[in-house]
Amino acid sequence: MKEIKFINARVIDPIQNKNDVLETIFIDPKGKIGNMPSSDGYDVIDCCNSIMMAGGIDLHTHIGGGKTNIARMLMPEGLCKSNGFEYGNKGESVPGTIDTGHRYAEMGYTAAFEPAMIFSNARQAHLEMGDVPILDHGGYVMLGNDEILLEMLAKKKGHSLIRDYVGWSINASKAMGVKVVNPGGISAFKFNQRSLDLDEKHSHWGLTPRAIVHELSLSLQELGVPHPLHIHASNLGVPGNIKSTIETIDALEGIRGHLTHVQFHCYGSEGPKKFSSASQQLAEKLKTSKNISIDVGQIIFGQTVTTSGDIMKQHSNRNNANPKKWVMGDIECTAGCGVVPFKYKENSFVNALQWVIGLEIFLLVDDPWQVVLTTDHPNGGPFTSYPHLIKLLMNKEFRDEQLHQLHPDVIEHCILKDIKKELSLYEIAIMTRAAPAKILGLVENGSLAKGKHADIVIYKEDPDQEYMFSTPEYVYKNGKLVVRNGKLVDCPKPGLHYLDVNFDSSVESYLKKYYEKNCIGEFRNGFIAESEIDLFLDGGKRILRKI
Ligand SMILES: [Zn+2]
Repeated sequence: MKEIKFINARVIDPIQNKNDVLETIFIDPKGKIGNMPSSDGYDVIDCCNSIMMAGGIDLHTHIGGGKTNIARMLMPEGLCKSNGFEYGNKGESVPGTIDTGHRYAEMGYTAAFEPAMIFSNARQAHLEMGDVPILDHGGYVMLGNDEILLEMLAKKKGHSLIRDYVGWSINASKAMGVKVVNPGGISAFKFNQRSLDLDEKHSHWGLTPRAIVHELSLSLQELGVPHPLHIHASNLGVPGNIKSTIETIDALEGIRGHLTHVQFHCYGSEGPKKFSSASQQLAEKLKTSKNISIDVGQIIFGQTVTTSGDIMKQHSNRNNANPKKWVMGDIECTAGCGVVPFKYKENSFVNALQWVIGLEIFLLVDDPWQVVLTTDHPNGGPFTSYPHLIKLLMNKEFRDEQLHQLHPDVIEHCILKDIKKELSLYEIAIMTRAAPAKILGLVENGSLAKGKHADIVIYKEDPDQEYMFSTPEYVYKNGKLVVRNGKLVDCPKPGLHYLDVNFDSSVESYLKKYYEKNCIGEFRNGFIAESEIDLFLDGGKRILRKI
């Protein structure tokens, strides 16, 4: 690979505490950030005082796996549009795998992680993610509604067996971490429960979501998994759910945790419509809960499709499907799935307030290192709306213009209109690359320090931040130019991040017996072999971390 010297770059690299520092940066022959080349023959690029950041990292986006595929099949109208490259702030639904890689790279993103990888479906999720070009990727395996874990907990098989099962599940599915969705609630739905609060008992297993969250988070801490438990908390979308969200933070008892799409879990029940913003309560709680990180799950007005493992919630949402079609599924007694198309509308009080709540969270949380920028693609809106979202956060005048187009009662009941804060480029760099790298434990990404992968984005500063973040001048993936002036010029293979966790393998005899008694598939097929990874990647790179 040809070495490159970038001169006159204004580097914004929060991991190195560099905020707009004029520097010279080098790409070495191995595609990493390096030193001054020892011989001539390297390329020189004059950045002319443009902004340089590490490649963007999306730690919660549904880009592979069963329900994403169902969403693609359910919304062919969205796919047709994506193939025509007709994206914008209100871009539609779920692009296909190839478009996903292209569109992310064109915005300067170089890594994206699928948060809801079902154990029994992990091969398909990996194959699909492997089909997304350019983006390094990985998945979090879903636990906490699987019969194996619930039975272990209910029958008090002991914490060490559960911890080893968590370790085995990560290795077997080639995951980066563990996600829990509506802890116990997906399973409870199958026993005809239609809600499950944090301290409410599952009607069959007698377990509470609090116990499941605590057990899983403790297991990950003991195993030394870098990414803490990825938590889709109880009561998604329910007015007043801030109470159980804050109680979920308490249930961790100081153990690290990541609360995902927290906008959907940040609702009060005040005001004439009994639906209000609880962003201040959440921001206040985060001040004293440094063990917690969040991603927001901002909603964007327009057509999208919601795809969630939270079948309890999706079943209750089915009557709001727009267009009128939906899919609910059970997945091998390990999870569930609901896919419901949805249109967020400015003139809906609820949707308008959801939009306000997301922005309030971004602007009110004191420490940007606790916050990651997401729309929970495609649930809150497509990832292609990120430049629009960044402009809303950086530009008070633009934000207020949008606010005044919403349902009139919302302005009256929100504090967003009074928030003067405009996020800086440094804060945006934290929320879009530095914080996600830290929260995921990606030691070679998210920074421009020497030795890191040369995932580099150069943006020409522009007063229109939406234009700036949708048309980077240069994007490099592992030292290779992939985008020039917002347009794709190359399409290298992606890499797979996964862990090799150390656990007591005697858990396997327990699992083997369980499989023989209860499962259709054979135990030996449950474990994805190292040799299968080549099939997933088709020439892409393994990024394995041993724990
Ligand atoms: Zn999600």
